[in-house]
Amino acid sequence: MSDDCIFCSIVAGEIPARTVYETDEVLAFLDANPLARGHTLVIPKTHAGRVGDLDVDRTRALFDAVAELTPRVQEAVDADAANVGINDGEAAGQEVPHVHAHVIPRFEGDGGAP
Ligand code: 5GP
Ligand code: ZN
Repeated sequence: MSDDCIFCSIVAGEIPARTVYETDEVLAFLDANPLARGHTLVIPKTHAGRVGDLDVDRTRALFDAVAELTPRVQEAVDADAANVGINDGEAAGQEVPHVHAHVIPRFEGDGGAP
């Protein structure tokens, strides 16, 4: 747990979130400002700021969760595809300094990448 980290606070249950998936290592919840219906964030439960801060176990747990979750998210909102990605660092658009993967459902004809 890192003080003043929004996503650590979500893991701790101090800030509400709409959890869609959870394991011992990973939590997934709906994005508060979704770019598409079903936009989901997947995070390691213990704090890591950047991708390079993740150890092997957490890297694997995070990607395992993304792999399992992505088709489920698409199915839940009847999407045709998904953008899966991580903004790693402020200059890349990372606003919350706790590693998170975005799973953004995409629909035929929805107008291109977000
Ligand atoms: P980033 O720009 O860091 O890659 O993405 C951060 C994402 O976290 C944004 O899509 C933003 O909407 C989402 N977000 C920020 N604060 C909260 C929050 O308190 N709850 C939830 N569910 N999502 C949040
Ligand atoms: Zn954190």
